[in-house]
Amino acid sequence: MDKANAPHKLNFDTSWEYAEAPESTDHIEIKKQYGLFIAGEFVPPKKGKYFDTINPATEKVLAKVAQSDASDIDRAVKAARHAYDTHWSKMKAAERGKYIYRIARIIQERAREFAVIESLDGGKPIRESRDVDIPLAAAHFFYSAGWADKIDYAFPCRTPAPLGVAGQIIPWNFPLLMAAWKIAPALACGNTVVLKPAETTPLTALKLAEVIQDAGLPPGVVNIVTGDGATGAAIVDHGDIDKIAFTGSTDVGRVIQKALAGTEKKYTLELGGKAANIIFADAAIDQAVEGIVNAIFFNQGHVCCAGSRLLVQESVAEEVIAKLKDRMQTLIVGDPLDKNTDIGAINSAAQLERINAYLDLGKKEGAAMYQTNSKTPDKGYWCRPTLFTDVAQSHRVVREEIFGPVLAIQTFRTLDEAVTKANNTQYGLSGGVWTDKGAKIFKVGSKIRAGVIWANTFNKFDPTSPFGGYKESGVGREGGMHGLSAYLKLQ
Ligand code: ADP
Repeated sequence: MDKANAPHKLNFDTSWEYAEAPESTDHIEIKKQYGLFIAGEFVPPKKGKYFDTINPATEKVLAKVAQSDASDIDRAVKAARHAYDTHWSKMKAAERGKYIYRIARIIQERAREFAVIESLDGGKPIRESRDVDIPLAAAHFFYSAGWADKIDYAFPCRTPAPLGVAGQIIPWNFPLLMAAWKIAPALACGNTVVLKPAETTPLTALKLAEVIQDAGLPPGVVNIVTGDGATGAAIVDHGDIDKIAFTGSTDVGRVIQKALAGTEKKYTLELGGKAANIIFADAAIDQAVEGIVNAIFFNQGHVCCAGSRLLVQESVAEEVIAKLKDRMQTLIVGDPLDKNTDIGAINSAAQLERINAYLDLGKKEGAAMYQTNSKTPDKGYWCRPTLFTDVAQSHRVVREEIFGPVLAIQTFRTLDEAVTKANNTQYGLSGGVWTDKGAKIFKVGSKIRAGVIWANTFNKFDPTSPFGGYKESGVGREGGMHGLSAYLKLQ
C-alpha cells in the first residue's frame, strides 16, 4: 500500500449514521417517450429513431428520447428562422421581456419538479439541483428578461441588432442551467434558438420545452432537439444558423472551431479547465478546507471550472491535507435523491470509465493516491472522493481535465511560485486564492490567466457576471452584458 493511501487516522467519531432523507418523486411526470420540440409542438423524428436516457444511480431507463438527424435539424432551423422573421425580431423588446419573465416564474413554480428530474437524469445530489442549478436557471431568465427593453441603450454610440438564429449545444454537467445560460440572453437580444441538450441529460431541457409552451411563446422561437454528437455537428454545419454557442469539452470545441472557420457564423465556446485553488499559510484553514471540498468534490467534480489542482503553501500542507482527508471521509456518496448526499452518481458509464482510467494512470505515473472508504451502492456509477499527492507538473493527472471528484495536490513556497504553477496549464477558465491579505488577493488575481478568480470562496455564480476562459478554455463570455453582446450585431 502506498503511503498516501495508508489508513488515515480520523480526528472524530464516525460510529453514528445518517437517517436517510430521500426526496419524493411522486410529484414529477416523465413521459415514456419524447419527440423533438419544433415550432411549438412535440413531433416525432423523421427517421423514427429513439434512444434511452437512464438514471446513472440505478442504471434504469427513465424515458426514450428522439435521435434527430440533419433533416430534423433543418426543420428546427426553418421553424426558428420563420419565427425570427415573422414575430420575434419584430416584437417590441418589452413584450419579448414579458415572455422571458414568464418562463422564469414558471421555472420557480415548478422548481421542485425540475430539481428531482435533474437529479434523476444527471446523478447530481438533490441539494445541488435544488439549491444551485434550478434557482440559478430561473435567475438567468429573470436577469435577461430585465435587459430585453434596455439593450438599445446599453451600448453607447452603437446600435444593437439581433443576429438571427442561434444554434446552441450544451453538456451534461448543468443541464437546465446551461440551457438557461444559452436561451435567456439569446431571446432577450431578439434571436430565435435551436438548442441541443447532451445525450445523457435531455429531460430537463424537454421539461423546459413544456414551460415554453405554457408561457405561450410564439411557435419556433425556441426549438429543442435531442441527439448525440452527430446531431450537434448538424447544427454547427447548418447553413442558415447565424451563431453557435457551445459548452463542452476542449476536443469538441476544437472540432467546432475548425468547422466554423471561414464561415460568417459568430461563435462562443466555453470549454474545459484545470483550475488551481491556491491556499496560502495565512488563510483561514478550516474555511479553506471546506472551500476545497466545494471546489472539487461537490457535484462529483463535474464542473468545468472545478478547482481540480490544489496548490498549498508548504508550511501548512501537512495540516491542510490531514484536515482535508478528515473532511473527505465524512462526505456521503450515494443516492442523488437523498438530501444528505454530498457526492451523487457519475453521469454515465463512459465518464466513470474515463475517471477510472485517470486513477490508474495517476498511480502508474508514480503519484500517491488517497481515496476514502465511503460505502457506495451496488448499482450505478460511483467514484469516491480521491486525491493525488507526490505529483509533478508533468503528470497527466495534473495537466488534464479529469471531470470527476479527483484532486491533484502540489505545494509551493512563494507567491511567484504559486502563480507560475497555477499558470502552467493549457487551460484558463477559473482559479481560487485563499489568504487573509487583501493585497495578496489582488496580486494573485491579476497574475492568474483565467476568466474567473474566486477569493476565499469557490464556485460562486451570478447571472450578472461574465464567465469564460483564456487559452484553451474557450472563446467569448457568457453572463452579464458581455454575454448579451455575444448575441448582438453592434453597429
Ligand atoms: P463532455 O465531455 O462534457 O461530454 P462533449 O464536448 O463531448 O462534452 O459534449 C458536449 C455537447 O457537445 C453534447 O451535447 C454533445 O452531444 C455535443 N457534441 C459532441 N460532439 C460534437 C460535435 N462533433 N459537434 C457538435 N456537437 C458535439
